Amino acid sequence: MAQKRDYYEVLGVSKTATDEELKKAYRRLAKKYHPDANPDNKEEAEKNFKEVNEAYEVLSDAQKRRMYYQFGHDGPAGFGGGNPGGGYYSYSTSGFSGFEDFDLGDIFSSIFGGSGRSSSRRNNGPIKGADLRYNLDISFEEAFMGVEKEITISRDETCSHCSGSGAKPGTTSETCKTCGGTGQVRHVQNTILGQMQTSRTCSDCHGTGKVIKEVCEVCKGKGTVRKLAKIKVKIPAGIDTDQSIVLRGEGEPGVRGGAKGDLYIVVRIKKHSIYTRKGTTVYCNVPITFTQATLGAELEIPMVNGTKEKFKIPEGTQTGTTFTIKGKGFKNINTNNNGDFVFTVNVQVPKRLSKEQRELLTQLAKTMNEQPPIKKRGIFG
Ligand SMILES: [Zn+2]
Ligand SMILES: [Zn+2]
Repeated sequence: MAQKRDYYEVLGVSKTATDEELKKAYRRLAKKYHPDANPDNKEEAEKNFKEVNEAYEVLSDAQKRRMYYQFGHDGPAGFGGGNPGGGYYSYSTSGFSGFEDFDLGDIFSSIFGGSGRSSSRRNNGPIKGADLRYNLDISFEEAFMGVEKEITISRDETCSHCSGSGAKPGTTSETCKTCGGTGQVRHVQNTILGQMQTSRTCSDCHGTGKVIKEVCEVCKGKGTVRKLAKIKVKIPAGIDTDQSIVLRGEGEPGVRGGAKGDLYIVVRIKKHSIYTRKGTTVYCNVPITFTQATLGAELEIPMVNGTKEKFKIPEGTQTGTTFTIKGKGFKNINTNNNGDFVFTVNVQVPKRLSKEQRELLTQLAKTMNEQPPIKKRGIFG
C-alpha cells in the first residue's frame, strides 16, 4: 500500500486549522475532485476524492483528530476494533452519506448537529438506510424538454462477499458477551445528584449484539463496501430549480434487514443567456429595428426548443412593449399544460448609416418636422 499523505497536507490546512477552515477546505476539494466533475480523469479524481473524504472524516472529529495527532495514520483506523469507546473509523462511514452532495449543506448539519442516527442505533431492530442527496445541474433547454442523465454517486453497498454479514464466509457470528446481545451497555455513575444510569452503544459489537469471530476480508467486517454507482435519472420536461426526483431504494443499505435509503436528485437549472423563467412562463427580449417598430413586421421568434414562431407586431410598436405567445412556455409538471412565452421588444437605433440611408432619413425628418411638435409634459409643460 502506498504511503499515506498527511491529512493536513491533503486538505491544505495548517495543524491549527479551525473547524470552519477544515469545512471550507473540504467543501472546495470535494467539489474539485468529485468524479462527475472530472469526466476526463475519473480514476485519479476518485482517488483524490476518497483521500479528501478520509482526511476530513478524521480531522473534523475532535476525538479522531486527537488520535491522529497522537498515533498518526494508525490512530483512527487502528482503533476501529475492540477499543473501549471505539468504532472510530469503520463504523462512521454510513453517517457520511452526503459526501456526493455538491452542496454539502445537509450532510454538514448531520455531522455536526448529531442527527438521530446514533440514537436510532439503540434499538436492535431493522433501520432504514441513509438517504442520499445529489445536486444535478441541467441546462435551461434540458429542463424545458426533459432529459435523461447518468450520474455517479459514491455510496455504501452490501458486501457481496459476505452478503452483508461482515463475517468471513463459512464462519458464524456469536452473541456479544459484553452486552449479552442487546447492543447496549449500562453504566452506573455516582454523581452529586445521586446515581445516574446511562446506557451506551456497546463498543465491542457496535450495537449489533453480535461479534464476528473472523471478519470478511473484503469489507473488514462492516458488511458494506464503498462503491461508485452509475445511475440513470429521467428528468421530466418542465422541472424547475430545487424540485427533486426521488429514486426509492437507491440510497445506502439498511441495517439489520432495514430497507434501503432513497436517493434525492435535486435539480438546479443553469442560467440562460437569452431566456429567463418564472413558473411556467418564459421571458426574453427581442431586438427590432426602428423601421420594424414603425411599420410593423412579421418576426421569427426563437423558441426554447430550437423552433421558430412567426409573430406579427403592429405598426407603431413602442420599445418595451410585451407580447405573449400562448402555450409556448414550460410544461406544468402537475397539469401537463404549457405556460406562455412572453417577449419584450427593444427598438435598436442604428449606429451607422449608409449615404443613401442618411438621405432618406433626412427627408423623413423634414416631413416629420412639418407636423406640429408634440406637447411636452413635466418641466417643459
Ligand atoms: Zn455488544
Ligand atoms: Zn464482507
